[in-house]
Amino acid sequence: MKSLSCHVVALLSILAITLSLTNASDPSPLQDFCVAIDTPADGVFVNGKFCKDPKFVTVDDFFKSGLNKAGTPNEKTGSVVTLVNVNQIPGLNTLGISIVRIDYAVNGQNPPHTHPRASEILYVAHGTLLVGFVTSNPENRLFSKVLNEGDVFVFPEGLVHFQANVGKYPAVAFAGLSSQNPGAIVIADTVFGSNPPIQPNVLAKAFQLDTRTVMDLQAKFKK
Ligand code: MN
Repeated sequence: MKSLSCHVVALLSILAITLSLTNASDPSPLQDFCVAIDTPADGVFVNGKFCKDPKFVTVDDFFKSGLNKAGTPNEKTGSVVTLVNVNQIPGLNTLGISIVRIDYAVNGQNPPHTHPRASEILYVAHGTLLVGFVTSNPENRLFSKVLNEGDVFVFPEGLVHFQANVGKYPAVAFAGLSSQNPGAIVIADTVFGSNPPIQPNVLAKAFQLDTRTVMDLQAKFKK
């Protein structure tokens, strides 16, 4: 009896250690929020999507074509991101990965942004990109590099990062992200283009600007 309880204790200890090693943080949410409700009948979906009955799954649930085609860069930033996540490939649900194509016009940039739910690994297919990410406070250290065709670079989860086309020609990159729904928080859009706007005096203090400058920025980024 004594040896049995010893085994149980040993097993529980191993389990606890394994859990602490494999589960260092909460599992990532798969969407911006999932507000709890008391009546499941009113629920929409929980942390991801409903699962299709396997007998109705087809090969096309795991397929998407067209990532060879260039997108049309946004006039303001000079870049465009073509998403291939769980919304484009339903078979990605629960798998924790997705991919994007990014096209950059000459002088275009993918402006500073973060992915709340993913690390990113970027591959430069064409062109020359200045890329970088900044570590969290208080150091705020910039890791930056010029990338050429064939180069690969990593942006750690949650950190603010960017790519700028510093070459003479349009550039193309592909990136894998460690979430089926990485999300994107573009800093300027989020801070100056929120709906409704954040009070200008709050942003003036935060960015050490005068209120008029903040209102100019808010006009530029208004949705
Ligand atoms: Mn990114």
